[in-house]
Amino acid sequence: MVKRQGVPLILCAPSGAGKSTLVKKLCAEFDLSFSISCTTRLPREGEIDGVHYHFITTENFKEKIQANEFAEWAIVHGNYYGTPIKPVIEALNKGQDIIFDIDVQGAAQLSLSLPTARFAFVFPPSLEILKYRLELRGTDSTEVIEKRMKNAIGEIENSHWFDAWIVNDELEKAYNELRAFYLSCKLSPKLCPQLIKDVLGK
Ligand code: 5GP
Repeated sequence: MVKRQGVPLILCAPSGAGKSTLVKKLCAEFDLSFSISCTTRLPREGEIDGVHYHFITTENFKEKIQANEFAEWAIVHGNYYGTPIKPVIEALNKGQDIIFDIDVQGAAQLSLSLPTARFAFVFPPSLEILKYRLELRGTDSTEVIEKRMKNAIGEIENSHWFDAWIVNDELEKAYNELRAFYLSCKLSPKLCPQLIKDVLGK
């Protein structure tokens, strides 16, 4: 059996573009684990510590930065978010694929530190539709929505370097595109550089 490294699949999108739904669908269909980030923001209703995020204090977060415990970290919408590096490296080395739901600043850091990482950006069809979806979600105040819209523009403007662009105008279509991208990532020679030698028996 061919031994290969896991795929680090990074998914970025402005909040409200449907990223979480796409992540959930992909994890339900494939053996993909979700990278659980640390954050200093408060849990939303229904969010579970250790499942959706590790909810920690700013002081604890800063200690982890000092101890180099993050593969990347960033301040998003005024809160700290970071990806713990240890579980990521352990899982990838075991051949476990991982999906990351992080922002563009964090993705840019991972593009430098994780050479096998592949990056997909999910676009909303338009800014008007994005705003409508955020309002419909009903979880954020008008002020927070304004902040998220401003952030969305910045993220879209910085999405030119991604490996894949997916427009979420229709969920099933967007999902099929993400699925196809993920399956193509699994074929990367970078994940099993020893294959040629193995096949040739060298
Ligand atoms: P939310 O607070 O809505 O869950 O997430 C806000 C933003 O932070 C989203 O764009 C999400 O992808 C991003 N995010 C979540 N975890 C991380 C992380 O570990 N690192 C970075 N850089 N961004 C993250």
